Amino acid sequence: MLKLRERNVWLGRAAADKAEAIRTVGRAMVESGFIEPGYIDSMLQREQVAATYLGSGIAIPHGLPAARHLVRATGIVVVQFPDGVAWADGERARVAVGIAARSDEHLQVLANLTGVLGDASAAARLARTSDPGEVIAALNGGASAPAASAPGVLAPAGGTSIEVSSPSPHGLHARPATALVEVAKRFRAEIAVRHGEKTANGKSLVALLGLGAVAGARLTVSAAGEDAAAALEALGAAFAGGLGEAAAPHAPLAAPAPRDRGGDGEPRASHDRTLAAPLGYEGRVVVGISASPGLVEGPAWAFQRERITVAETAADPAVQHRRLDQGLAGAAADLRQLHDELSKKAGAAKAAIFKAHLELLEDPDLVAAAHDQVDAGHSAGWAWRKVYEERADTLARLEDPLLAARAADLRDVGRRVLRLLADAIESAASLPSHPVVLLADDLSPSDTAKLDPKQVLGLCTAVGGATSHTAIIARSLDIPAVVAAGPAALDVEDGQACILDGDMGVLVVRPTARDRARAEVRRAQVLERREAERLDRYKPAITRDGRRVEVVANIGAPGEAQQAVDAGGEGVGLMRTEFLFLKRESPPSEDEQAEAYTTMVRALNGLPIILRTLDIGGDKHVPYLSMPAEGNPFLGVRGVRLCLERLDLFRTQLRAIFRASREGPVRLMYPMISTVEELARAMAFTEEVRREIGADPIEIGIMIEVPSAVMIADRLAREVSFFSIGTNDLTQYVLAMDRQHPTLASQADGLHPAVLRMIERTAAAAREAGIWVGACGGIAGDPAGTVVLAGLGLVELSVSIPSIAATKALLRGITMEGAEDIARRALACGTAAEVRALVQGAQGGAA
Ligand code: PEP
Ligand code: MG
Repeated sequence: MLKLRERNVWLGRAAADKAEAIRTVGRAMVESGFIEPGYIDSMLQREQVAATYLGSGIAIPHGLPAARHLVRATGIVVVQFPDGVAWADGERARVAVGIAARSDEHLQVLANLTGVLGDASAAARLARTSDPGEVIAALNGGASAPAASAPGVLAPAGGTSIEVSSPSPHGLHARPATALVEVAKRFRAEIAVRHGEKTANGKSLVALLGLGAVAGARLTVSAAGEDAAAALEALGAAFAGGLGEAAAPHAPLAAPAPRDRGGDGEPRASHDRTLAAPLGYEGRVVVGISASPGLVEGPAWAFQRERITVAETAADPAVQHRRLDQGLAGAAADLRQLHDELSKKAGAAKAAIFKAHLELLEDPDLVAAAHDQVDAGHSAGWAWRKVYEERADTLARLEDPLLAARAADLRDVGRRVLRLLADAIESAASLPSHPVVLLADDLSPSDTAKLDPKQVLGLCTAVGGATSHTAIIARSLDIPAVVAAGPAALDVEDGQACILDGDMGVLVVRPTARDRARAEVRRAQVLERREAERLDRYKPAITRDGRRVEVVANIGAPGEAQQAVDAGGEGVGLMRTEFLFLKRESPPSEDEQAEAYTTMVRALNGLPIILRTLDIGGDKHVPYLSMPAEGNPFLGVRGVRLCLERLDLFRTQLRAIFRASREGPVRLMYPMISTVEELARAMAFTEEVRREIGADPIEIGIMIEVPSAVMIADRLAREVSFFSIGTNDLTQYVLAMDRQHPTLASQADGLHPAVLRMIERTAAAAREAGIWVGACGGIAGDPAGTVVLAGLGLVELSVSIPSIAATKALLRGITMEGAEDIARRALACGTAAEVRALVQGAQGGAA
């Protein structure tokens, strides 16, 4: 059994706040050899999902499941903060037990901890003691575990029960126990969980931890009370779904079609972060959110929004020597000023980086080498850039990670000087002439739209969300992408080898040979599966019990219509027409638009296309429209609201759409409808324009992406021919989480039951009114989302072009009856994680 040792106990520490305390605990875990430093970020993120405060002044910080590969060995550390740290809901933690779990060995230590929790004086002693032995004795078995009782004490009388297994791979530790409590608390029934001789209250985290139930241990869950049966059903499903951990054995959703298995047991199109299996990378892993699937390898390159131009040669070396000295002196002055300002604001430690940069600038070898280049006839800028880039490349190749990290510093300071020596600085993205993995703080949709997939193998941003338009564009360009990876994503030298794993949502810096070999094997498997799906791409998506779901494409450019057809799309479910307005200096004319729409209609050759009218605003800025800045652009003049304010733009677009409608089946769709009045105004104006053009009437539908539209869907359904649910926006507006928020976006999951209930309500209103309903948000092409949305009765799923074949293959491998059953159970879940676990479990056989 795992034992706590003296070196794992840090006493008498202080921390200004919870984040600092967690970093201290993380440091203790790193120094004990239990985790990679990257795991600390995940511990901080864990607190945002749910605080790890247990009670009696004790907290148990630990990371999220996605970061488990950063755990090097199972272990526990104890850090004492005698003055306490504000942790959760006004509670102060004085003892923090940091947990790194690769296996379930630590459960007994946690079980012993529950003994301390049940005894306030024991907990207070641990918070004050200066004797590590006392902590060790308490956690290694010196205290009993009263929170879990003798058999039968907590078992509710007269209840029913089910037998379940403790989840794999790490048993009933803190995270799955928290998931269990969350489900149990939704019911009024008394719930008990028995493990061998011990019984715990199913609504008490502490008591459940006290069971010390290792992976696979048999547990009896009993419930008594009016909703006992429903409670047991939900708890059974939660256990079956692995309580948010890896999947437990399950009844399959359907017998798998042989082609969907790929014959190798590999999960299918794993473009969602919870369906992919952890890979255990050995290089430095930077964890973010999967935004676009795929696995690539290449050199890192930091995205720059400006291009600095310098002449290669110069006539007068004396002038160039002087310019070089002036550039160096100017940059040094800037650095000194930055250093002084930051020291005053944030202290000398934080400002030290600028001191280090100054030292680099004063390196005599570097400066002399640059002057030598000037003597050889080069301009000061060219000479300087050649020298510092070469030095940085050499540093980046060094084995010692500390030295290699100086490469990024040298490039930073080098660029500072170079700007002063530039002939011209253009605001245009500069990319090298070879393919790279692009790293950026953030990328705007227009930055992303300009990327060339041949040059950008993959991209990783520090901020952003999986449903931001940057992610959407990356998916449509088939560029693997990871977003919300935090500042660690920027701490990589240009040229450094990386693996960008868009399936897992991680960037692997300095991958080992083993990482590379395994990535290669996986890439080959994915390619093989994609090829099988590609061969079947023109077959309709008919479930195994004979129900058809149409799979159509989300596109953003005229050329993509043909690509959609070639990829097996049965039409276009969403053309984001506003993309035609990005990347330019003025709006496209009526003729230009008519030509673009006509090109798409012709490419579709009789298949339907839904042209969504302009959805400008939110994260899509069109500078030349000079819209006033708004404090809350997602709640401002966006989508149809802008069109109703700018009737000139709206008229031009509608005229172009009606002209194109003469060429084939065009449907019109308004985005962001939130009131009946807006819809009435938009429809009346559309009708006016139609008459002006003399075109035939066309089908008109609306996006359902605002909660008010859901609540009045019955009323709206009377006016239109179809609904298409925009789950990206619906999720952000229902959960009140900005879809590109640096920290919240990762929780804004379209599979949240609150969103699913909105979808169910919309589908019911559409059914009642006799109109069809589909979805075009990102969740439609996410494997778990595909199943749930089909089960909720959506008859058309509009997905990014690269996801079409996989989505069709998935639908062909399931039964609608099974999907409907999952959807029903998903609506009863409490969290998105439960929904994902439910689908993952049910897909066990079909995956
Ligand atoms: C949506 O909101 O789900 C949607 C499809 O529209 P967009 O992503 O363009 O806002
Ligand atoms: Mg939207």
